[in-house]
Amino acid sequence: MNSPYEGKFKITQTFKGAAHDGLDLVGIDSKEIHATASGKIVFAGWENANNHNQGFGQYVVILANGKYYHFGHLSEIRVKLGQEVKITDVIGIEGHTGYTEPSGPQGSHCHYCVRTSMSPGTFLDVCSISGIPNIYGGIYDDGYRSGQKKEEKKKTMKVTVEYDDHKFSGLLEEI
Ligand SMILES: [Zn+2]
Repeated sequence: MNSPYEGKFKITQTFKGAAHDGLDLVGIDSKEIHATASGKIVFAGWENANNHNQGFGQYVVILANGKYYHFGHLSEIRVKLGQEVKITDVIGIEGHTGYTEPSGPQGSHCHYCVRTSMSPGTFLDVCSISGIPNIYGGIYDDGYRSGQKKEEKKKTMKVTVEYDDHKFSGLLEEI
């Protein structure tokens, strides 16, 4: 998994460097937000727009390999400060808390950015790190499915039976 979502999601605002330091993503198949890296939770709570001029609302930050992975505007936080998380763990639920309008996109989404610190202005290229294409309106799926079960294929055998002058054939299936 290299995106915060399981299944398909939509890119509703692109990465524009300082002008918009992350991607805005909307889950299509699921609203659960997953850890995109294994690391430590260094922030899990509310961020007021007036304090930091970011308005991430309820947000979570994971510190992993020296990079800070930010997940903003959540409706629910499922982790605690200091907790160690593994990649793919559910850390929260997509929402529209914080400053999501009028300049930002309206409605529920996740602001996903990667920085070299907690502070704004220290952004890294989230698209090259995550592999998510920087395409406005694009729908992307990294293929991750949590409940993935391997399809068990039944063994079959083609059989032909001769009885008197008649031939019968069919598939014999393992029970
Ligand atoms: Zn955003």
